[in-house]
Amino acid sequence: MQLPFAESYKIKMVESIHRSNRNEREKWIKEARYNLFNLRSEQVFVDLLTDSGTGAMSDRQWSEMMLGDESYAGASSYYKLKNAIADITGFEFFLPTHQGRAAENVLFSAMIKEGDIVPGNSHFDTTKGHIEFRKAIAVDCTIDEAFDTTLDHPFKGNIDIEKLENVFINNSGHKIPMVIITITCNTSGGQPVSMQNIQQVSQLSQKYGVKVIFDGARFAENAYFIKKREPAYADKTIREIVREMFSYSDAMTMSSKKDAIVNMGGFIGFREEELFNKASVFNIMFEGFITYGGMSGRDMNALAQGLYEGTDFDYLETRISQVEYLGKMLKDAGVPAQFPFGGHAIFVDAKRFLPDLPKEQYIAQTLAVELYLEGGVRGVEIGTIMADRDPITRENRYPNLEMVRLAIPRRTYTNNHMEYVAASLINVFERRSGIKTGYCIVKEAPILRHFTVELEKVK
Ligand SMILES: *Cc1c(COP(=O)(O)O)cnc(C)c1O
Repeated sequence: MQLPFAESYKIKMVESIHRSNRNEREKWIKEARYNLFNLRSEQVFVDLLTDSGTGAMSDRQWSEMMLGDESYAGASSYYKLKNAIADITGFEFFLPTHQGRAAENVLFSAMIKEGDIVPGNSHFDTTKGHIEFRKAIAVDCTIDEAFDTTLDHPFKGNIDIEKLENVFINNSGHKIPMVIITITCNTSGGQPVSMQNIQQVSQLSQKYGVKVIFDGARFAENAYFIKKREPAYADKTIREIVREMFSYSDAMTMSSKKDAIVNMGGFIGFREEELFNKASVFNIMFEGFITYGGMSGRDMNALAQGLYEGTDFDYLETRISQVEYLGKMLKDAGVPAQFPFGGHAIFVDAKRFLPDLPKEQYIAQTLAVELYLEGGVRGVEIGTIMADRDPITRENRYPNLEMVRLAIPRRTYTNNHMEYVAASLINVFERRSGIKTGYCIVKEAPILRHFTVELEKVK
């Protein structure tokens, strides 16, 4: 008999979670104004809101916490992290920040000005927020295939080279400070970018004198997909692939809460000292001195260790297989989801799930609320609410895809939990024809509204 797949770790510490009943959940979600971000964690049984900062640290990471050096300047923890970043990514210069969006804030302060244009594959919401906050424009150049969830394409995070070149041609060079490659592309479904595409983007950007910046939150998962799907890389190690990916760029921003498996942290990696020096000024202003940024010494130690664990092949195989396990159960039951499955999450296609619901009633949000009511499972809307209003016309932006993202925290849940989640969603799928109305907004913030929006059931 062929031996089955099994996790590459065992469990040393556990945390209790509680099931609730439907009556309780109805009351709680109403009190939360139908915004899943407003629920208390005790009101959730399986929490797939995000894979950000929700992973389980290892025994080695916890040991590293005890060795943290909390010196204000020049802490050994800073040098441990600096060495780990240089070793894994190849970036010789770096700045610690308290999380990914802080890295964006610091780097963009040094690079983006009003009226600039920032092309890339689909920008992450905070990235887009930081671009638009500076009155610059984010242009999505993702390949069209990414927006057909039924199409099997190995690298749906790829940038359409023709679209990118058109942006370069139609705008003078000084208006384009950077192109951002998000790996994996969260917004289009946790989809990877191929090495070939990274090389092409890099070559084209060089030709037009534009810098290449990676939004690297899930760089290790991207490398895993390159190894699995790009034949030339089948025999390379994850770390060799990671090094090569980053070699095509000038800098990276990192949310360490993702592939570095820590609960809080971020950084910016730089190739050149000049840009590092420019950004350092903003880091000191917004985050902290350059040898700690927004992080404590113990957190820098755990992050340095996490970078090694997050780029371990066995770990990545365990992780991505679990996401696939959930995806396959849903697919077998006919639930429409982005295919191929993403690295960190399953993206349920809400438009195909609830085809008769008008887009003005927030299709993906409606589905996310139904899933919570069904089983106490919390996902997140990646649709019209998250897409925000157009900064100029203030009209709702209706994205091509309305998705409910089920993000799987790293090393946190078992496959039994995945079976529970699948059963909950399949139950909703079976009663979908009874879901006839959605929600309307009663209160929203001017930017990044999804975090605090308040909704009401359409009557
Ligand atoms: C999470 C994330 C960010 C922002 O990072 P935070 O740590 O949440 O501030 C930026 N880009 C991508 C692709 C992300 O997934």
